[in-house]
Amino acid sequence: MKTFLSSRARRLKPSATLAIAALEKEMRGRGIDVVGFGAGEPDFPTPSHIREAAKRSLDRGETFYTPVGGTPALKNAVAQRVRDDYGLDYKAEEILVSCGAKHCLANVFQAVLDPGDEAIVLAPYWVSYPEMIELADAVPVIVPTREGTGFVPDPEEVEARITPRTKAILVNSPSNPTGVLYPAEILAELARIAEKHDLLVISDEIYDKLVYDGGKFTPFAALPGMKDRTILVNGVSKTYAMTGFRIGYLASTRTDIVKAATNIQSQSTSNPASTAQAAAVEALTGPQDEVARMVEVFEKRRNLMIEEINKIEGLSVVKPGGAFYAFVNTSRLYLSGKVSNSADLARYLLETRHVACVPGGPFGSEDHVRLSFATGEETILKGLERLREVCQELL
Ligand code: PMP
Ligand code: GLU
Repeated sequence: MKTFLSSRARRLKPSATLAIAALEKEMRGRGIDVVGFGAGEPDFPTPSHIREAAKRSLDRGETFYTPVGGTPALKNAVAQRVRDDYGLDYKAEEILVSCGAKHCLANVFQAVLDPGDEAIVLAPYWVSYPEMIELADAVPVIVPTREGTGFVPDPEEVEARITPRTKAILVNSPSNPTGVLYPAEILAELARIAEKHDLLVISDEIYDKLVYDGGKFTPFAALPGMKDRTILVNGVSKTYAMTGFRIGYLASTRTDIVKAATNIQSQSTSNPASTAQAAAVEALTGPQDEVARMVEVFEKRRNLMIEEINKIEGLSVVKPGGAFYAFVNTSRLYLSGKVSNSADLARYLLETRHVACVPGGPFGSEDHVRLSFATGEETILKGLERLREVCQELL
């Protein structure tokens, strides 16, 4: 029999991050003492006032469809949060609430990209960007950044890759997987390029609150002239430890795009879960002190992880200024030939030491693996001790 799969489905690669997270949980379920550096999710419980809000919503009987693009209460909460944090004003019709920031991004790509259109993606990139762009039959144009320059993009290189088919540029600062927080002058240069070539900027700001060393996060839409060409994408997953609730949002003055993305959602998933929306209202409008507490803990863990990695012969790492990932250069370990790429190394680590990490390949760099520090200090020390043994074996 012939295959019934579309060429799109045949091209698609499954999410490597979610695959590792699932494997980690499955191994733990089998009683294996696995060190989980894979998961890109906070290990903290969702703050109790947020969980209580979800329960109260259920008790009020809010178990029906809501407006497709989110309840008025949640759109207001998003608008208020973005205004309070960044002084950016958005009206309800300029906001769309989806099932996670991932869903917002997928909706936007479908809304703006035609077959053959190009979108610029800076590498290393989050695993889902190129795949989502290809699902829209468009072309991800990968522009590398380098460890030697702290994974900060070179605006000249970006500009050199622009063609008449370029429609959008994707910005993700702080970045997954490198943790780099783009300096203000680089953001300004990217803004200049967007203006000059009339590009849409899709700014994935999911790690905006997870910034260390007193670093300053600037939302792209707040840069001069950028509000009307930026799609701000964010969500509650990382900031409020709410990954399972699946609530993300986008905001843009381009109401044609917001409306198109909402229409796409209306024909695919409909509204995000009503209970999750109620919880997100509380997250965005309730007390914010737990966020600061979590960030403090993440920063301590980051310091510990980077300090320990720097002691291990064979590894190098750029200290991440945000998010909760260390993107570790493991290329020296491939020289002996016992492992020859990031997937081999990740498999070796998992099989011989029960340490789960995400290989760099799906992020666009075979020279690296990604270790998440969204896990306790003891686990970090235990996992890095096992990694040190592996480095000794492989060097
Ligand atoms: N963007 C980046 C860079 C991420 O790391 C994630 C994590 N899953 C997301 C978007 C999507 O997050 P969510 O769908 O949970 O809101
Ligand atoms: N973004 C997180 C990660 O990179 C969660 C998994 C996913 O959606 O990719 O691990």
